[in-house]
Amino acid sequence: MGIIVQKYGGTSVDGPERIKNVAARVCRSVDEGHQVVVVVSAQGDTTDSLLEMAQAISTRPPKRELDMLLATGEQISIALLAMAIDTLGYKAISLTGAQGGIMTDEQHTKAKIRKVNAERITAELERGSIVIVAGFQGVTPGNDITTLGRGGSDTTAVAVAAALDAEICEIYTDVTGVYSADPRIVPEARLLPQVGYDEMLELASLGALILQPRAVEVAAIYGVPLHVRSSFTESPGTIVREVEDMEKARSVTGVAYDDNCAQITIIGVPEPVNILRLVFAALAREGINVDMIVKTSGGESTTTLSFTVQRSDLDAALEIIHHLNGADQWEITANEDVAKVSIVGAGMMTNPGVAAAMFDVLADEGVPVELVTTSEIKVSCLVPRNRLREAVTACHSRFCLSDAE
Ligand code: ASP
Ligand code: MG
Repeated sequence: MGIIVQKYGGTSVDGPERIKNVAARVCRSVDEGHQVVVVVSAQGDTTDSLLEMAQAISTRPPKRELDMLLATGEQISIALLAMAIDTLGYKAISLTGAQGGIMTDEQHTKAKIRKVNAERITAELERGSIVIVAGFQGVTPGNDITTLGRGGSDTTAVAVAAALDAEICEIYTDVTGVYSADPRIVPEARLLPQVGYDEMLELASLGALILQPRAVEVAAIYGVPLHVRSSFTESPGTIVREVEDMEKARSVTGVAYDDNCAQITIIGVPEPVNILRLVFAALAREGINVDMIVKTSGGESTTTLSFTVQRSDLDAALEIIHHLNGADQWEITANEDVAKVSIVGAGMMTNPGVAAAMFDVLADEGVPVELVTTSEIKVSCLVPRNRLREAVTACHSRFCLSDAE
């Protein structure tokens, strides 16, 4: 049997009992004959607490120093887990991102993994150790510590699995798998036994919050199968892999939502100004992601541009826009009371009328739709935040997602 990578999230290692439980699970996989690499997150809400500590000192902490601070959370987890495994009589060694060869670019707080130099990990495995790697962190070519963005431990795990050509990357979390909708909103949501990479990428990017989207991207590129499951139960979970012959009878697989968005609208831009290029180039330079975009003619030879960003990027985005050439002539407004509801399904490609059915059900519910975007396998609508639950529930029932295939 080959190498498996197991990733345990923050809730799974929150406290000594849970760490011991993880240690037992890891050792069980060793008993089954696997070589095991474990990637862990910081315990519980440690990362949030560290961020608060920084905020108490400075409203704009230098990003390099923020990374130095945030990386300590995962370092606690790896050391404690190695100790817990040691008490069970198994050999284990903890490695920071840098020691584990997680090489990143220099974008502090949002770094991307460029390469995993897996020599050290491989050597430790060969020595018979369980190797525990700190998630969420890496190191630049200049030897500075970086972090990979919130939820980044998933990406660490997948990147390590790809570098080691692991059989599977198991993602242990506090939910039992990927559901057709968030079960907290839609109690009758169904556990999906398997999901394709494309669908998972859409679901993850749309706020399913189970996997970091970047992790799914890396898994798809390297063909690493993912197994999303609970660290607290034996529930079978969800397998994420390439599903070519997937039955396309079902046009929609799941409903996702994102209530961490904000809408910016710019009105009265004189026509000769290329507002798209101007705004989005400026935002891109600051690393701000833009999502839904609509540009319309506002009449009187002016243009209106409306788009969404993550709520946490709103203030920074507004500041950038207000400083653009000519901005003093525009009317710039922001709306934080919006949320995005999306339907996702690879079967959409072959079944027409899916978007129409979504608009239909939202209209029946009296939910106004502000912006729409689509891809081959998803339709997203921006709706008022206080109507989000109704919108998700209505879509879930319209596409009969609680029925088994
Ligand atoms: N500890 C980091 C976070 O809270 C990374 C992770 O959990 O994946 O975002
Ligand atoms: Mg996570």
